[in-house]
Amino acid sequence: MFSEVDHLNEIATEEFRDRLGTVDEKGKRKWVYAQKPKGRFTNIRSFLSIFYFLIFFGLPFIEIDGRPLFLFNIPKAHFIVFGKVFWPQDFFIFGITMVTFVFFIILFTAAFGRLFCGWACPQTNFMELMFRKVEYLILGDAAAQRKLKADPWTSRKIFKVGFKHFVFFVLAFIISNFFLSYVIGMKELRKIITEPLSEHVGGLTAIVIFSYVFYAVYAYFREQVCIVICPYGRLQSVLMDKNSMIVAYDYKRGEPRGHIKKGEDNSKLGDCIDCFQCVRVCPTGIDIRNGLQMECVGCTACIDACNGIMDKIGKPRGLVRYASENSIADGERLHYTKRMKFYTALCAVVLSLLSMLLITRKDIDATVMRAPGMLFQEKGKDSVQNLYNVKVVNKTTREIPMIVKLEDMEGSILMIGKPYVKVENEGQGWGEFFITLPKKNILKRSTPINIGIYNGKQKIAVVTTKFLAPVAE
Ligand code: SF4
Ligand code: SF4
Repeated sequence: MFSEVDHLNEIATEEFRDRLGTVDEKGKRKWVYAQKPKGRFTNIRSFLSIFYFLIFFGLPFIEIDGRPLFLFNIPKAHFIVFGKVFWPQDFFIFGITMVTFVFFIILFTAAFGRLFCGWACPQTNFMELMFRKVEYLILGDAAAQRKLKADPWTSRKIFKVGFKHFVFFVLAFIISNFFLSYVIGMKELRKIITEPLSEHVGGLTAIVIFSYVFYAVYAYFREQVCIVICPYGRLQSVLMDKNSMIVAYDYKRGEPRGHIKKGEDNSKLGDCIDCFQCVRVCPTGIDIRNGLQMECVGCTACIDACNGIMDKIGKPRGLVRYASENSIADGERLHYTKRMKFYTALCAVVLSLLSMLLITRKDIDATVMRAPGMLFQEKGKDSVQNLYNVKVVNKTTREIPMIVKLEDMEGSILMIGKPYVKVENEGQGWGEFFITLPKKNILKRSTPINIGIYNGKQKIAVVTTKFLAPVAE
């Protein structure tokens, strides 16, 4: 029987790990003409991609209380997640969310390898299930594309290639618009589209730049994004181990590979008939039979291709399948390892922390600080005055006429300017005010005081600050 050692010896002599599957000996890029995959996994992925595209193109139209469901306005540091507004003041929540996300990625990758890349990553979905499908429709399958490439530049070729690039650019332009709507919101995007272009030079420039970037990604960079650019892809080798689920070739069953010859004794051959179908459909240009490779995005095309061949030659499916390296080598079943349990515990801790922060998060944040450079001012013989600045962040959808009051303390407050500060919805407001306290109540140089922030009669926050007075302690 073909052992793991034999298999490792065999692949150790090969040069495939010395360079990328998409680069030749001279370091030049090898263009991948992936054959159109067919099969159960491809059908499910195609169906799922429609669902993802509906989400991507549909979400920007959904609004809650007049604001988008999601907004990631990085330039203005304004974020909306599930209709809830997040400001830079919520950076702690943002930080913990990032940490939680990273821990989940670590756990998910340790358990399921590149399942996300193959099934849910926007890059794979747009590339394999939108742009590549358009390419098949216009240029034909891999063989037709190769032939077209070798053909001279006739009017037919110019039309086909030109039309493909035109459609690619139109799709990239549409994606770019929707991508931008997640940053500036659908309302702003509509203004860019409907109002005079001269009023939205910045927005228009962003749309054009994004369109060219998306077009370049799907027309030229393609699988290179997953192979050399994506940081998640680069982390795989660290996050995965021999128990992680990957798309794997069962070399114990498949080797020694060879063509089945009629009238000859084929009993010594494994199940792999060396038909190269798994290689032909691979969008990253690799041979899954060489073992786990960083180029593999787990797209399952080779599983479908090999299952099709197994059906034809009357052998059981699953020569290429989801499995772990250990399960192929020792027949060990996929299981929940100690490492995964440890990552799960870490996830549970950060998720609890995040939930707590989200539950206790306030819709209004207020900070009150003594005016910088000012100590105190004596008012007559019996009172002392301090000057304060108040800043309020309003995360709600309603405007707040903010007033401040002293809590549980004798004294008075005098707002400078208007008697209240108008804080716009999803906006910020600032104000200045004096607090005057009677000397008889001040026993220390620095006295903690509570200031209530009110929306009319409704108390929305209580802030503790210090009051300074000339008292010898
Ligand atoms: S090896 Fe298989 S799963 Fe991996 S990228 Fe190629 S076709 Fe997709
Ligand atoms: S598709 Fe299956 S049988 Fe054909 S070469 Fe690949 S692993 Fe072997």
